[in-house]
Amino acid sequence: MTKRRRTAYLGVAVGETARDTQHPSWHTLGTGEVLSLLESSPEGLAAAEAARRLVRYGPNELEPPRSVSPWSVLIRQFKNVLILILLVSTLLSAFLGHAMEAAAIAVIVLFAVLLGFIQEYRAERALEALRLMAAPDAVLIREGKLVTAPARELVPGDLLMLRPGDRVAADVRLVEAVNLQLDEAALTGESVPVEKDAAPLVDPDAALAERKCMAYAGTVVSNGRGRGVVVATAMGTEFGSIARMLTGIETGRTPLQENLDRVGNLLARAALAVVAAIVILGLWRGEALVAMLLFGVALGVAAVPEALPAVVTISLALGVQRMVRRHALMRRLAAVETLGSTTVICSDKTGTLTRDEMTVRNCYAAGTWYDLTGSGYAPEGEFLREGRVVPPSAELAELLRVGVLACDACLARDEETGRYRVQGDPTEGALVVAASKAGLERDALNARYPRVDEIPFTSERKCMTTLNRDGAALTACVKGAPEVVLAACASELAEDGERPLDEAARRRHLEAARIMAEGALRVLAVARKEVTGRSDAEKGLTFLGLVGMIDPPRSEAREAIATCREAGIIPVMITGDHPVTAAAVARELGLIADGRVVTGAELSAMDDDLLEREAQEIRVYARVSPEHKLRVVSALQKRGHVVAMTGDGVNDAPALKKADIGIAMGITGTEVSKEAAAMTLTDDNFASIVAAVEEGRGIFDNIRKYLMYLLSSNIGEIGLMAGTMLAGLPLPLSAVQILYVNLATDGLPALALAVDPAEADIMRRPPRRASGGIFTRGVVALILVGGIWSALVNLLLFAWARASGCSDREAMTMAFVSLVLIQFFKAYNFRSDRHSVFRRPFANRWLNGAILWEFALLLLVVYLPFLHRPFGTFSLTRGDWGVIILASGSIFPVLELAKWFLRRRDTGRSEPAEKKDPPCPPFAKGGTQ
Ligand code: ADP
Ligand code: MG
Repeated sequence: MTKRRRTAYLGVAVGETARDTQHPSWHTLGTGEVLSLLESSPEGLAAAEAARRLVRYGPNELEPPRSVSPWSVLIRQFKNVLILILLVSTLLSAFLGHAMEAAAIAVIVLFAVLLGFIQEYRAERALEALRLMAAPDAVLIREGKLVTAPARELVPGDLLMLRPGDRVAADVRLVEAVNLQLDEAALTGESVPVEKDAAPLVDPDAALAERKCMAYAGTVVSNGRGRGVVVATAMGTEFGSIARMLTGIETGRTPLQENLDRVGNLLARAALAVVAAIVILGLWRGEALVAMLLFGVALGVAAVPEALPAVVTISLALGVQRMVRRHALMRRLAAVETLGSTTVICSDKTGTLTRDEMTVRNCYAAGTWYDLTGSGYAPEGEFLREGRVVPPSAELAELLRVGVLACDACLARDEETGRYRVQGDPTEGALVVAASKAGLERDALNARYPRVDEIPFTSERKCMTTLNRDGAALTACVKGAPEVVLAACASELAEDGERPLDEAARRRHLEAARIMAEGALRVLAVARKEVTGRSDAEKGLTFLGLVGMIDPPRSEAREAIATCREAGIIPVMITGDHPVTAAAVARELGLIADGRVVTGAELSAMDDDLLEREAQEIRVYARVSPEHKLRVVSALQKRGHVVAMTGDGVNDAPALKKADIGIAMGITGTEVSKEAAAMTLTDDNFASIVAAVEEGRGIFDNIRKYLMYLLSSNIGEIGLMAGTMLAGLPLPLSAVQILYVNLATDGLPALALAVDPAEADIMRRPPRRASGGIFTRGVVALILVGGIWSALVNLLLFAWARASGCSDREAMTMAFVSLVLIQFFKAYNFRSDRHSVFRRPFANRWLNGAILWEFALLLLVVYLPFLHRPFGTFSLTRGDWGVIILASGSIFPVLELAKWFLRRRDTGRSEPAEKKDPPCPPFAKGGTQ
């Protein structure tokens, strides 16, 4: 009863209660009745009405996205044990008469908590935004028009379209079903697809699995198409009560985050051990108990990298938002890290590397060649025969007529711009346009020869058939890949009528197809047959001819392929198209010079070992089926490659899951492929994959920069304290000062590093090794060098100041300021782990701002008299500053030298990035960089 949220609607219960007793089951009603009960129509709802219902029934989501309350995040900050201890010891010290100091600590702690809160809350909010972005879409009819809308906006009464590969987004009563089959495993556990039709049932108590006129949320369209009116959404669906829908982004912890959690824990424990030792040593030397405790806790707070997880989440989430602007939508946060180490990108051709704006250039009918003029989808152009305009011959007209009847796509004209668009498959769109140039209009043809049945196109079959009524007769209209269609033909249409198709003629036609393909044209063959039903529709056909269409390569794809080369990433084309077409397009794109093209048939003939060896060299696969993609991914992965793979169809899902980065197509892709993928391209463009890889590299780099900075700073602080203790000196910093240093350096400057702009050569170096993790030898070396040098310099400075007669207070202030300055300098140094600081030193505006701000605050703390007592500071003299700048500035040459050594070592080892087609480094062996 508790879940009874949606209540009566038009006297009929909708939603949760629909399954209860009051409502006549939807599956027993006629479609008209259902539509009128839901106050809908075959035109769908009006937009305004849909909006009204959305408010009334709420979004179509099983689990409304949990919105984080700022309070819970704030309270979480205080759950930190160290902070609690610190607050208690502050209270204690206040009672013991150190009121000013205690107040300062309290203020700093509050700021630290606030900072932690802002970081975490921001991370949560960013994740929430991502969840919404990655939610699925649905295609529906509103006001008589097809629209795509987020599935969460579906309301009862909406007309939902079902296409192969869709995951049904709500419970619908079908009003149309053409060969519709649903995989209802998610609901019933039954994995054999169930056939559906729109006819109502008699039995109101029919089991779910038997309700053939219903399609339930969570099930998947495996075949055919349909249309249905939404009867229940969200928790009201059958699925709502048993499972949760697969939506949104997976934001579980990424491998990097887990790794850092472990490292963070380890470091925290090490830091606390050192702190304990320092405290014990201090007590043993006779320092006051409370003061020493307070100091110890403060040092503990400073040394534990508690901001690490939040900053990593922010880097990832902000990076993902930047990716959205570059047309890549991430579904799995973990994949963001993997992206940066991608070594192979396997991409579809059609639509991803090419523009998917097809135009028919050539037709071949009854042995005669025709050229077509015109461009794009505007149905204006003429047929040329040997350069002269000719009226289409009867055979050409028949080729186009049958071809168009076998199409689902249609042409639409944009009212405002007057431009033509294709609704549906561009390959078919091109055919419809070509027929229109010959005066054959799709709608008129379909009215005259109504379609009664169809066998849909799949990438495996590579052809498609429709059955159309022609008076009393039934004609099968077939179009598809030339080899496939010609293999099913027994006769051909020539100028003098039908005649048997002999071997010589078949070869001649295949040769014609090859000639078209050589010009980078995509080729379709068309055939027809008088039939009695769908069982004999694809054999013994009559060949009508060929249609060749261009699909110009995307210019951005060319550049992106060049970028891949420089970045040490191997681009690979995988297409269902003809090998000759594939090769021609690959050459235009600069993918191969004259490399070999491997067909699906050849691939099937290879065993896994051979494929594994060959896959390193193959750049183009043609006439492949989805299952080949899976083998290519496995073969490359066995060789240690990190593989990104695109796919759009239902059957691509396994390969997308298997790939390190599965990439779905936002425009043409099916919902199922999007669910299986780690990333969706909103513009279906290859260049966006490369852009995402670039962002992925940048994100990883920034996390590394931040990590180097943070850890090296902490080592510097702890090292300084431990060093002075061991050297028998008094403590160089007070508890307040150490907390202040932590706040000033771990705060804004660290955050600014997490959004550092990418280095200029980010796409000119080989991919990071996936097995190397973030703590490569170079990174560890820089952390240690920076940390130890900082500890050493400050120790010397402190000792020198005391020896040269400064007061305790002055010496401490000098060490304090020098420590802060060193961390500021390091922030600039660690903007790169290989290049000199002096390359674009001030490129990060956020960092410049953060440092300026922190420096101004530092000056206040040093010079404002009333802050002297709580902070234990001293108005430094000009001479003091000279020494401080000298000491802290020394970090520059030291880190520069360290980087120089690392660079030298690297160039001695790795391949030059400019090599034309970089051989793959021996990733499989793993190891550190
Ligand atoms: P890709 O998308 O990789 O170019 P597809 O699997 O979509 O390859 O297409 C493979 C072949 O199937 C094409 O070369 C073409 O001959 C044929 N084909 C493509 N689309 C259709 C369609 N809508 N109807 C019939 N045949 C098609
Ligand atoms: Mg395709």
